[in-house]
Amino acid sequence: MSDTSRSDSPISDSPANRLILSQTLEQVAPSPTLAMTQRAREMKAQGRDVLGLSAGEPDFDTPAHINAAAINAIEEGETRYTAVDGIPALKTAICAKFKRDNGLDYAPDQVVASTGGKYVLYAALMATLNSGNEVIVPAPYWVSYPDMVKLAGGTPVIVPAPASQGFVMSPDQLAAAITPKTRWLILNSPSNPTGAVYTADQLNGLAEVLRAHPHVWVMADDIYEHITFDVGFETLAAIAPDLKDRILIVNGASKAYAMTGWRLGFGAGPQPLIKAMTKMIGQSTGNPSSITQHAGVAALNGDHTFLDGWRSAYRRRRDLVVAAMNDIAGIECAVPQGAFYVYPSCEGVLGRTLNGKTIHTDLDFADGLLEAEGVAVVPGTAFGLSPHFRISYATSDEVLTEACARIARYCAG
Ligand code: PLP
Repeated sequence: MSDTSRSDSPISDSPANRLILSQTLEQVAPSPTLAMTQRAREMKAQGRDVLGLSAGEPDFDTPAHINAAAINAIEEGETRYTAVDGIPALKTAICAKFKRDNGLDYAPDQVVASTGGKYVLYAALMATLNSGNEVIVPAPYWVSYPDMVKLAGGTPVIVPAPASQGFVMSPDQLAAAITPKTRWLILNSPSNPTGAVYTADQLNGLAEVLRAHPHVWVMADDIYEHITFDVGFETLAAIAPDLKDRILIVNGASKAYAMTGWRLGFGAGPQPLIKAMTKMIGQSTGNPSSITQHAGVAALNGDHTFLDGWRSAYRRRRDLVVAAMNDIAGIECAVPQGAFYVYPSCEGVLGRTLNGKTIHTDLDFADGLLEAEGVAVVPGTAFGLSPHFRISYATSDEVLTEACARIARYCAG
């Protein structure tokens, strides 16, 4: 080996050390939310008292009737490969869901099930993007969108939608971002990380722009559909039925039914797109777990009244966290109307010295908070809009109360 500076290290000679990564992967960052959650987990394992507010998953258990359907599926021997796009009963349940919740008609060949909403998005991007294609992503965005676009060979075009505009993109901003190379707009409402929910009026404004640009398609990520407070949930395909043939709705079981570990997502859209996505899925993951699919049928077709209790718990926790954050000098927190996140600004603490370190960025803030007080939040840099941090309030009132007290103590220096 010519690299003599490393020749004394036995590790430098290992083939693993000479691994050459794909240029595509080199452009992609690891998921910052998963990284923060993992760091918190490691600190906990070392005996540190850590409060995790970084993971984007409900703290409730999967409802018993859904678990029972999975156990039954195992006992009935439903443990083999299925159709790539999902068993017929699941596809029927997905179509019924869109009719019931959104007033939208989809045929079974216009829906596809996959391993999480994440893979539905990824399959759609992989199935449609060519090098140089642009995808408009309003910021702050869910961490995976820009990196998935890059993995699929496209170019993310980030449009800032700051707190001053309610974290929603305006029609003028959309119009200005569209070029002949634009393939998709990714629209996420209720939003991760802000909890912002697009109103029917706001969607109508975007629809008007989209009508003038027939080459632009929309991925509507509705995964937090069932978690809204005070406002109704609206989806673009129902607001603008004339655009339905260029909209892919992405949804899934993770957030609504507390099924993050089961990995079940689904998409609905025009048949040629669904067919192309199914081809992509067939050559990568194959079908989502057969057991999970049976659980999904029970989730979609079953009782939804438990959601009322979950929503009121989320609302109580949201109010608790928003009030606590706004009590801290230097922190400003808008009241979100959906999902289970708040996205406070920490602009007012930049330049301060906290726990012996000067805070220049939201990354410094989040790192310092974890180090000093053992509270894990995700810095706004991860979501493309700084200086902010995301708190997931899908955890107990006790943990939230203690975490907010620690954040206040940290900010007090
Ligand atoms: N979309 C958004 C906005 C999310 O926050 C998440 C998960 O955090 C997903 C999609 C993907 O969820 P899953 O793959 O668990 O269905």
